[in-house]
Parts: sequence; structure tokens; C-alpha cells
Amino acid sequence: THMNASPPRYPNNASLIGGDWVTSKDTFPVIDPATGTEIARVPNLGAAETKAAIDAAEAAFPAWAKKTAKERAAILRRWFEIVTAETEHLAQLMTAEQGKPLTESRAEVAYGASFIEWFAEEGKRAYGRTIPTTAAGKRYITIKQPIGVVAAIAPWNFPIAMITRKVTPALAAGCTVVVKPAEDTPLCALALAKLALDAGIPSGVLNVVTTNDAAAVGKVLCEDARVRKLSFTGSTEVGRILYAQCAETVKKLTLELGGNAPLLVFDDADIDLAVAGAMASKYRNAGQTCVCANRILVQSGIYDRFANALAAEVKKLTVGPGREPGVVVGPLINADAAKKVEKLVQDATAKGAKAIVGGAPSDVGPLFYQPSVLTDVTPEMTMVHEEIFGPVAALIRFETDDEAIRLANDTPFGLAAYLFSRNIARAWRVAEALEAGMVGVNEGLFSNEVAPFGGVKQSGLGREGSQEGLEEYLETKFICLGGL
Ligand code: ADP
Repeated sequence: THMNASPPRYPNNASLIGGDWVTSKDTFPVIDPATGTEIARVPNLGAAETKAAIDAAEAAFPAWAKKTAKERAAILRRWFEIVTAETEHLAQLMTAEQGKPLTESRAEVAYGASFIEWFAEEGKRAYGRTIPTTAAGKRYITIKQPIGVVAAIAPWNFPIAMITRKVTPALAAGCTVVVKPAEDTPLCALALAKLALDAGIPSGVLNVVTTNDAAAVGKVLCEDARVRKLSFTGSTEVGRILYAQCAETVKKLTLELGGNAPLLVFDDADIDLAVAGAMASKYRNAGQTCVCANRILVQSGIYDRFANALAAEVKKLTVGPGREPGVVVGPLINADAAKKVEKLVQDATAKGAKAIVGGAPSDVGPLFYQPSVLTDVTPEMTMVHEEIFGPVAALIRFETDDEAIRLANDTPFGLAAYLFSRNIARAWRVAEALEAGMVGVNEGLFSNEVAPFGGVKQSGLGREGSQEGLEEYLETKFICLGGL
């Protein structure tokens, strides 16, 4: 590897370590999923460069931690403004490497930037406490301090927001960070890092290591004792590996893992609201979000009406490359993802599910799948137990509230859940009974920077966004002042 003096223009092709843009002879391609064409190559870095990034983050930590929250806030605020000013550029880059429609990419830049803005402000409010004493000669105080060097491993489905949701609370708290972006979407991460430097984030405070060997880089990040905290968003399978690898150095962890979100539609639901909620929750990002409704549980009295109304809306969805105007459903991220969706639908239809819309790959291109609605889905089908991560709605019938709650909770996952009912008592009872970190009541979209995002059970540990999201990067120190 060698260092370049001047930062490259993005689309970017160099990693950022200690304020230097690092290139390598060993590179891997970034592919536009809509066309299959290579749009850039980025460095394929390994253990040595990961160590160098940790060195840089460790070296930068004392000065960054010592800055006042207000000084850090001013820099983060500038980053927010620069990112916002670059919305169009970033959105084009995102659609090129990730595939989502441009309208969604623009919305994600705003969503991603909202975390920078929020944590710039919230960093100023990392309050400790004074605790009433139990002994006359003593006083009790707690203070909040940054944990130290943080590693952030990000997924490809939200190439900007999943990075800012981890990085900005860490930076606001006074931590320094090494980011490993997903191999499918490194360009947005590198562009964000470039804009962070422009905003005045000091060398080494934010580092980005691109790699095609996530396991090798991940192992170094987990095993290095100087990394005090790991924040990961991705599959439960990989989350378990990282959890185990972090045991040796007893790292703090935030894990945002897989979901299997139930969306419950009761007989007394406002059907238009329920359909709109299901559409928003299911088909955004071509169904590739961990809070997408994976199982749509519909009470028998409203089942047929709901299925038909949903089908009518789904038929209107335009599939195509994300850069084309009017497109609402883009390609899936890669061949494995497309194969998985196809297999899950084949399994379901072979076991008796009916595709009332779609049910097959789209002829737009190899990675496109038709927006689909399947009825008569039952627990024998694999898609009831696994994240579909594609534009396929699975409708399951239920009779009673108790049955709905039992079915909804019958999963090791517990990230998002949704319910639609006009009866406030029922809505409240069911919301309390659902084993999930987040519940949307008559609402299919709820992620924002001020609300705690996260899961229970095997969907993860900790929360991102909100006050809780800052807390994840702070240690509480108790100081006992004696001898008074
Ligand atoms: P998905 O199935 O959504 O692609 P993954 O969990 O495979 O989710 O990927 C999420 C992130 O985890 C990506 O940045 C990926 O490179 C990274 N990753 C995958 N395997 C490992 C591993 N063994 N160690 C560390 N990171 C990994």
C-alpha cells in the first residue's frame, strides 16, 4: 500500500487511515446491481492496515476526548451541513452502488444526516448525576466519559445512515472510530469520510478500512484490546461470531441483527391505513431492511379485503433501475440475495401458498424480483422463519388476538413489529405483549434519529439513535468524594 497526498474526488477509490488516503494494488470491484457493471475499484485491505487504523484511532483519541462537547458539536454540525449540501451527489452514488431508487437515496441522505445533526446536539447533554449520600462525610457523583476506540461494521442496505448512526454518537461522545463498510457499498462510506475531513474532523478520529475479506478485518477489530467497543449491524449469524470474538477482550457491544417483523391487521383496522403501512414497511428498499414486515398476520374477517386491497397497490409498483424516474422498486443487492428470495417463494408455493401478484423474478434484469403478494402462507414455510429481504409480502391468517400474539412472538427475533387496529385498548394490550424492540401502531415507518432503534431476543443488544444511542458510547464513572 502507499499513501496519496491529496484526497481523491469521489466516487472515491482509497481508504482513510490516520488522515491519509490509502490505496492498494489489491483491489475489489464495486458493482452497480441494476446493470452488473463495475463502477469503481477500492482497496482490499487486510490485518496490517486494520492495525494501522486502530493505531491512528488510538493516537487521535486523547485530543479528541479532551475537546469540549461544544467544540466537537461545532465540527459535527459542519459535517451535517456539508453532507446535506452534497445530497444529490451522495444520492447518485448510493443508487449506483446499492440500487435503491433515487428518491429513496435522497431520503436516506437526509435520514443519515439527521443523526449527525442530532448527535452534534445531544453530545452536549451527556449528563452525570449527584447522588444523595449515605454517609455524612462523603459525596457521590457520576461523570460520563467516552469509551475509547470504537469499531463500526456496517451493512449495505443503508450505506450512509447505518454509518452515521454509529459514527456520530461515538464522535459526539469523544470516541474515535474505525469503520469497516460493507463490501457491496464502500463508496458512500468513503464519500462520507471525505466530507468529514472537509468539515474539520481531525486526522485519525475517523478511519475507514475497505476490504473484501470481512472476516480477517473483523477478527482484528474484535481481538485488539485497544478497541473498546464494537457496533455492528448485519445478520444474526455474523453477529454471533463477533459476539464470541469480542469475549476475549470483554468489549462493549451494540448489535443490530436480523429481524422477522410481524405486521398484525385486526378486523377493526382502518384498511387503507393498514395497506399503506404494509406497503411502506414491506416494499421500501425492495424489501431489504431489517424492519420490513416479514409476516403479515391478518384476522380472518378482513383477510380477503386486505389481500385484495394490498394486491391492487402492489400491482402499481414500477420496477427498474433506481436512477430512472418513477421507479419504486430497484434491484436486489447481489446474486445471493436474488437466489434466496426465489428459493423462499418456490418453497412457499410448493407448500400451498398462492401468489396473487408476482411470484417470480422480474425480466428487467438478473437481480430484479417482481413485487409479490403471497396468500395462505403457513408456519411450515421457510419464509415465516427467515428474513425474506425482498419485495414479497407473506399473508398469514389468524382468528383471535391471543393467536396473533402467539404467532407474532413465535420467533427467536424481536426487532420491529406493527399492528393495525382502531381499538385503542386492543392496540395497547397487543403492543405491550409483542416481543419487539419497536412497535408501530397504525404506522409502517418509524425510524428516526430521536427514537431508540434496536431489538430484543436474537435481534441484538443496545439501541441506536436517541439519548440511548449516545449512552452506548459512554462509560459511567462513579466518584466518591470522602474526607469531608
Ligand atoms: P448481510 O447478510 O446483510 O450481508 P452480513 O452480516 O453478512 O449481512 O454483513 C454485514 C456486515 O458484516 C458487512 O460489513 C460484512 O462485510 C460484515 N461481515 C460479514 N462477515 C463478517 C465476519 N466474519 N467478521 C466481520 N464482519 C463480517
